[in-house]
Amino acid sequence: MRTLRVLEHFTCLARDCPAHCCGRWAIVADPEIEARWRELAERTGDHTPLDSITSVDVEGRSRRMLTKGDDENCVHLQPDGLCSIQAKYGHEYLPETCRSYPRMTVSGKAMQIKTAELSCPEIARQVLNADPAEALFAEDAASIDAFSTGLFSAETTVSAALDELTNAVLPQARFPLNLRIYYLAKTVADLAYRSEQGTLDEQTLWNLCKAPRQGLYDANLALKSGHLKVGAVSDEFWRLIAGLAIEVGVMDLAGTQASVTTLRDAVADGAAAEIHRQIVELRALARSELLTRFGAGLQNYLTASLMNRGFPWRPAEGNFVATFMNAVLPFAVVQLLCWLRSADEVLDEGVLLEFIYTTERRFSHADLVYKILSRSPVLLDFHRAPHIYLEVC
Ligand code: SF4
Repeated sequence: MRTLRVLEHFTCLARDCPAHCCGRWAIVADPEIEARWRELAERTGDHTPLDSITSVDVEGRSRRMLTKGDDENCVHLQPDGLCSIQAKYGHEYLPETCRSYPRMTVSGKAMQIKTAELSCPEIARQVLNADPAEALFAEDAASIDAFSTGLFSAETTVSAALDELTNAVLPQARFPLNLRIYYLAKTVADLAYRSEQGTLDEQTLWNLCKAPRQGLYDANLALKSGHLKVGAVSDEFWRLIAGLAIEVGVMDLAGTQASVTTLRDAVADGAAAEIHRQIVELRALARSELLTRFGAGLQNYLTASLMNRGFPWRPAEGNFVATFMNAVLPFAVVQLLCWLRSADEVLDEGVLLEFIYTTERRFSHADLVYKILSRSPVLLDFHRAPHIYLEVC
């Protein structure tokens, strides 16, 4: 078992929260809470909670959900920012989703991770400020003994190797963050390729994942000497990221200045090379300040985002490449927002946090990134794509 350390200190901001979890989200009425509200209605005559449940068609399936008001918020969210059900009847009368949020569990075949949603402003703040000298997730030693209990399959062996690699690479602050992300991406690509070719044996796997320092060193040297270059696929990558920011509605957070308008126009024209040119220009102005001030926090954010999305312990349909990208793409969107905002003003922590929790909230549907990636299959061709990650930070 692994646990996100900051959960220990988590306290809900309640009425002071800048982005209530019951705002705008569809909340499921689980069978247990429906039964409890029915019993409440019979006992007290208060039908308000029960009557707020409605049947909604979700992709052809009928689901029991809480009704939303005209403002798109849950009908029980009061103007003072508190929940009327919690205020009147207490925590145990909340639906399961509301009771557990932001806590979540990622259950892999050989590892269970107790973590929390980065869409919660307080969790995002604590993750951003967690001490980078300490591992973000605390490990229960007993949980990783699965090798000796025979729990490990081919997939979980790859998970364990990638886990070791990720834990060794991400904290290597002496190498730039973009190089660390690139190195992870490249290794995941190599593993996927060898696995497809049927040439991935256990020895090769661990050789690729163990002792990454030399690999990072070599990659850094190649980058500095110009041997490691970003390819043409970057145009497509940034077209996708800028398009994603617009599609999920977070581009507005970056502001209304000229650079945002110009980028929007380029996205509308589908001008990938122009989008890339504009982003390179913005990044040249903002990158070093962002990393100097928030580099450790961004590293924490990426670490939590990878783990929350199942990398490497619960890869979606066994696909480590897509699972990795599922975490890195929202991260790239956040960075783009930072670069855009920095063109106008000095970025402060509050703004960065808003970018993170809002972006995470908009990307909360697990399959959104996968759907979008299917429109840009070139980005899943990881042998061409790892270099794009040099551009991310
Ligand atoms: S988003 Fe987080 S801090 Fe805000 S109300 Fe929900 S649990 Fe509390």
